[in-house]
Amino acid sequence: MSILIDPYEEAKKQLRSTIELLGLGEEAYEALAVPERLVQVKLAVRMDDGTVKTFIGWRSQHNSALGPYKGGIRYHPDVTANEVVALSMWMTWKCSLAGLPYGGGKGGVRVDPKKLSAGELERLSRAYFAAISDIVGEDLDIPAPDVYTNPQVMAWYLDEYSKIKRGFYFGVVTGKPVELGGLMARVYSTGLGTAITAAEAARRVLGGIEGRTVAVQGFGNVGYYAALFLEEMGARVVAVSDSKGGIFNPNGFHVQDVIDFKNKTGTVVGYPKAEKVISNEELLELKVDVLVPSAIENVITEKNARNIKAKVIAEGANGPTTVEAEKMLTEMGVVIVPDILANAGGVIMSHIEWVNNRMGGWVTEEEARKKLEERIMNSFNNVWKFWESKLDKQKHNLRAAAYAVAVDRVVRAMKLKGLL
Ligand code: GLU
Repeated sequence: MSILIDPYEEAKKQLRSTIELLGLGEEAYEALAVPERLVQVKLAVRMDDGTVKTFIGWRSQHNSALGPYKGGIRYHPDVTANEVVALSMWMTWKCSLAGLPYGGGKGGVRVDPKKLSAGELERLSRAYFAAISDIVGEDLDIPAPDVYTNPQVMAWYLDEYSKIKRGFYFGVVTGKPVELGGLMARVYSTGLGTAITAAEAARRVLGGIEGRTVAVQGFGNVGYYAALFLEEMGARVVAVSDSKGGIFNPNGFHVQDVIDFKNKTGTVVGYPKAEKVISNEELLELKVDVLVPSAIENVITEKNARNIKAKVIAEGANGPTTVEAEKMLTEMGVVIVPDILANAGGVIMSHIEWVNNRMGGWVTEEEARKKLEERIMNSFNNVWKFWESKLDKQKHNLRAAAYAVAVDRVVRAMKLKGLL
């Protein structure tokens, strides 16, 4: 993430233009620009060498008009309070757009988890969840995985919470391991949703996804599965990358083979069937049909937007495109499937998991996957329809349509409650 671009400022700019588009007043902007609650916690963690280290974490609860706050927790050395607030606002729109009974929240801990041992990571995770235990809950705020957190971290959160509250509350976190009430489909659901929306946009813009070239930035939980599903749908994945760099092969990769290589070595760099090693910046500017940025915020900026050659961008990451860059890309005719639509598969599956936990029942993987596919296609169609029928496509991208639908629903709920 570039430290020069503040994601909260970006999020507020997006909100501002949506408020204008919907013809709402300044009071609506103010009611939505500020999170309902932002909590900072200090974590004292015993390290393996016996010393105690201090970490800082946050939980931002942006808006609860539609239901309990929902959103992941990220561990990253560059996390800031403003970033967490922006991400929590994006969760409000994401949940609203998907028609879920949730508001938006997000958490973060400023740490490089790659530098911690398993024991240190467990103690940090337990300390963080204990510190926020009074503001989370099955009907209050429901965390989930995000950048560099995973089902194991959710298992520690669940266990810590159970101890503190002296009871079993499966629904307090989602993205749990299957043994603890998680769903098999949750781990690939964000990537699947990204692939579905990327393919649908490619179908409408380019006539189909089969044989189209794709570059995927980021090979974490989102990028990894997005690449796998896009390949399954017939696309040619010609470039992938992780935090150490990227690889390119014009003939396309066998994605599972790259995954196996990364699992062994820790990175895609050095994969023997790559034609060349490329940087993360170079990946974005490749001559491909579809670009899937699935790492972090602010990677497509006014500096590189003009060099982008893809006709479709599907945002697997949250906030990868800045507002200025989006203006340029819209002028260039690039269709952007925005994050709140393209990566909603994760939170949609989280909702299925949460409902399943609260019913004490066991939905099958097939049922869960079908529900996800239906819901995300529904969202896509609604957004596309709004874009075509209500907006000037030369001026506005799909994001404007997605935001209009999402913000409108939150505003209506707030009005009904007398909050606006
Ligand atoms: N962290 C994911 C996101 O940004 C998932 C959130 C959730 O499942 O609550 O959408």
